[in-house]
Amino acid sequence: MPTQRFRISTAKHRQITDITSQVQEAVRAAGCDQGLACISVPHCTCVVYVNENESGLIADTLELINQLPAGGSWQHNRIDNNAEAHLMASLMGSSTCLPVSGGQVELGTWQRIMLIELDGPRERLVTVTIVPS
Ligand code: ZN
Repeated sequence: MPTQRFRISTAKHRQITDITSQVQEAVRAAGCDQGLACISVPHCTCVVYVNENESGLIADTLELINQLPAGGSWQHNRIDNNAEAHLMASLMGSSTCLPVSGGQVELGTWQRIMLIELDGPRERLVTVTIVPS
């Protein structure tokens, strides 16, 4: 099956979750040896990115996100008061595509696939679309 899905329940308003093992399991379940995996979230206030899962860098990333002012004059706040979450999701992106080789997503030594919750707690859906080559 070329498309796999799994859910992540977030517990905090903002948090970073390492989803590498779930993505690797999805690629294994798809039975793809070589190709491309697109990891995406169908949400407007959630991010998927690749970087190091190091506690200082996690704290730094959350600190950077928190520097975008909440409230204030953002026009979207007229609707549901989470404009800064939408804006940061736009800046960081809701998907990433990675090569698949030997039945696994290829990552560098320190690279992990991470999900950022920007407006939790919520249940988030992660889709892994696999294109064999
Ligand atoms: Zn909104």
